[in-house]
Amino acid sequence: MEPLAADIVACPDCDLLQRVPPLPDGGTARCPRCGRTLAHGRPGASDRMLALAVAALVVFLLANAEPLMRLSTAGQEVSTTVLGGAREMWRQGERTAALLVALFAVVAPFVYISAMLAVLLATRRPPAPRWVGVLLRWAEVSGLWSMVEVMMLGLLVALVKIARLASVAPRVGLFAVGALAFLLAAMSAGFDPREAWSRVRWADEGGGAGEALR
Ligand SMILES: [Zn+2]
Repeated sequence: MEPLAADIVACPDCDLLQRVPPLPDGGTARCPRCGRTLAHGRPGASDRMLALAVAALVVFLLANAEPLMRLSTAGQEVSTTVLGGAREMWRQGERTAALLVALFAVVAPFVYISAMLAVLLATRRPPAPRWVGVLLRWAEVSGLWSMVEVMMLGLLVALVKIARLASVAPRVGLFAVGALAFLLAAMSAGFDPREAWSRVRWADEGGGAGEALR
């Protein structure tokens, strides 16, 4: 089926254009003219995404609260967090690297996870409130949904930069940052902005009685 807009599909058998409303888990949309099945509500998909996002938030907090690594510089042993590492880089004159670390290891993942959580929670029970549409549009324009690869590359660069500050022994925070990269990738693979959009559009149409059947 060829999607024309977020919620409009053409029936593959008879070409009838129709809207497909957000489907409940296990629900089915059928063409009203020929009865062809158009879409299935994937059971538990939104729950899985929500679980991923919550896990990512926990791991993100862990990655920033726990020491990243133990640094030994000039005979002194210190443990540092991600932001501590960034501060240390800034102090040593590596300002670009310090900003990269702060952006890719702290700011970007936090914005990404927060936006994802907000959208997932707000679209659990359609119709979704209007601000979800604003958020989705902003995320689309800013490329937020597709910047995960860039973010992970930045994380890697940041880690290498931190590792070069001093002789380094990895701590809990470092493994958390690694786990965060995987969780972000899984979230990016599983999230369907089009699906979220369709729930907002129905809200705009006043709770939408649709011509498509369940
Ligand atoms: Zn049809």
